[in-house]
Formats: sequence, C-alpha cells, structure tokens
Amino acid sequence: MRKIVLVGTGMVGMSFAYAALNQDLCDELVLCDINTTRAIGEAQDLNHGLAFSNTSMNIYQGDYKDCKDADIVVICAGVNQKVGETRLHLLQRNLEIFKTIVNPVVNSGFEGIFLVATNPVDIMARITQELSQFPSEKVIGTGTTLDSARLRFLIGEYFDVDPRSIHGYVIGEHGDSEFVPWSQVLLATKPILDVVMDNDCYKMEDILKISDDVRHAAYEIIKAKGATYYGIGMAICRVARAILQNENSILTISSKMNGSYGLQNVYVGNPCIINRQGATRTVELTLTSQETEQLKNSCKILDETFSGLRF
Ligand code: NAD
Repeated sequence: MRKIVLVGTGMVGMSFAYAALNQDLCDELVLCDINTTRAIGEAQDLNHGLAFSNTSMNIYQGDYKDCKDADIVVICAGVNQKVGETRLHLLQRNLEIFKTIVNPVVNSGFEGIFLVATNPVDIMARITQELSQFPSEKVIGTGTTLDSARLRFLIGEYFDVDPRSIHGYVIGEHGDSEFVPWSQVLLATKPILDVVMDNDCYKMEDILKISDDVRHAAYEIIKAKGATYYGIGMAICRVARAILQNENSILTISSKMNGSYGLQNVYVGNPCIINRQGATRTVELTLTSQETEQLKNSCKILDETFSGLRF
C-alpha cells in the first residue's frame, strides 16, 4: 500500500495531486489543508475523474492523524510569491505555518519521508528537518529539480534535441543564486561547451542566456499568469516516484550537505540518489574552481538567512 498525505491543497499541491492521479503514483492520497472545505472539494473533484483514469486510488480529505502510516508527507502549504517578491521574503511567513504542520505530523507517529515544495524551498526543508528532528535523508526539498528540467528543455530547444538526451543540472539555491555548472552539461555524451566550439551556428552568449532564462522563469510565469504550478507538480511527482519505487534515481533535490564540497548542514539543490530511504547520497560533481565558489556563495546566502530565523 503506497500512501501519500498532501498538506496544502492550493495550486501547487493540486497540480501534484492531479499528476499523481494521472500517473497512478500511489494507492491512497490524503488531502489536508487549513481550509478544510477546499480540501473536501478538491477530493470530490479528483474522485469524479477516477472513472476516466487507470487507477482505483483512494482519495479523501483528512488530517494529521492520517500521516501515521504514510510513506510520504508532501508539503505545499504556504503563502505564494507575489509579483517582484523574492522567495526569501516569503520565509518568515512560511516558518510560522510550518510550526503548525510539522509538529502534528511527527506526533501522529509518522516515520516516512517529508517532501517539501513550499518556498523558499531549501530553507523550508531545513526548517522541516530542524522541527521534526528526523534523520536528514528523510527530509527532502524539491530543490532545483524543476530548474534542471527547465534547463534541459531550453537547451534541447536551442540544439533541436530531445530534452531527455540533454544531461545537466541547475544547482544551488532554488532562487536567485542558483547556477548552471556548464562544465557538467552534456549533449548525449559530448560536453555542451565542445558542441558550441565545434559549430559556428551556436554561440556561447546564447548558452549563457539560457542560465538567465532558467533563473528568471518563475518571475516570467508569475508575471504572465500569477503563479507557477504544473511544472512543480510534476517535479514533486517525479521525486515521490523515485522514493516509492526505490529507484536510486539521481535528481537535483534539496538535501543536507554532509561534507561534500566542504559544505556542512546547509540544505541546497544538488544531485542526490533517491530511494525508499530518501536522499541517501550526494553525487559530488567535478566542478571547476569557479563553479565551486558559486555553489559556496549560494550556500552562504542560504546559511545566513537560516541563521537569522526566530524559531
Ligand atoms: P496557494 O496559495 O494556491 O496554496 C497554498 C495552500 O496552503 C492553500 O490552500 C492554503 O489554505 C494552505 N495553507 C496555508 N496555511 C496552511 C496551514 N497552516 N496548514 C495547512 N494548509 C495551509 O499557493 P501555491 O501556488 O499552491 O504555492 C504553494 C507554495 O509552493 C508556495 O510557497 C510557492 O512559493 C511554492 N512553490 C514552489 C515551487 C518550487 O519549485 N519548489 C514552485 C512553485 C511554487
């Protein structure tokens, strides 16, 4: 029996739930929200689609007691990013919300994995670990999974290649200090920087613009339609599947640094092996010295922000 409890049935949470239903992700999906009426309505709406689906998923509105035997608690509760607002501005508001969520989840007897999407996600994942005192591998943020997918899409579009044949990551904070370690990006097995050098049609400035476009994607989408949700909903689904199916897949989730790159304690987006136990191992990349500095700078920003919190 694969059971997921979703806390926060807003746009992101329900995009995840809708993707989960369509992908037959689990057997039981419990919807929790401070707005109980909304969670009831969302459960009804999804249930009315069951007849058209390939699953007999049990979907219902519930509460924190339902976390006791869950495999994963997905947290998408929080306040949304407003036009022009950075993710870090959201922090203090979301910390107060998390106190009312993480403690009752732990008190239910939950022993599964926390998967956090609420922004600023790296810090919210670290807060979740701090509040829950769970082993760090059992508390995961969505990190730069979505950013890495955006990167692969944009590079694929530029080179006219299926994004699934582009291998590369966005790492660091899911936010303004994130970056692309270009030395690690491959088209098939050829370094992307070599592909650019070898062909006059391609320009380095176009490639570098792609990093900017990835970094600004959320701002652009928020400007156009108020919020982003489908992409992150599918990213949450992807990470949850890697957990439930014990895949040992490598995804750029946000995990606690444990010595890699000389970094400790900070939660940050980086490639990790994901399985039933959670984020079991960081895959330390062979970064250039400049890229290592960029990662350290991103972690410094996250660390300083976390240290300024009032718990
Ligand atoms: P939303 O406002 O549509 O939904 C938030 C939900 O949280 C609401 O249903 C609200 O009732 C609920 N909520 C608020 N306080 C609660 C509490 N104490 N307990 C339970 N539920 C509570 O917002 P959204 O668009 O779904 O965004 C949710 C979060 O996801 C935001 O923090 C947003 O920034 C973040 N987000 C993350 C990524 C990513 O890549 N990690 C991408 C997009 C959005």
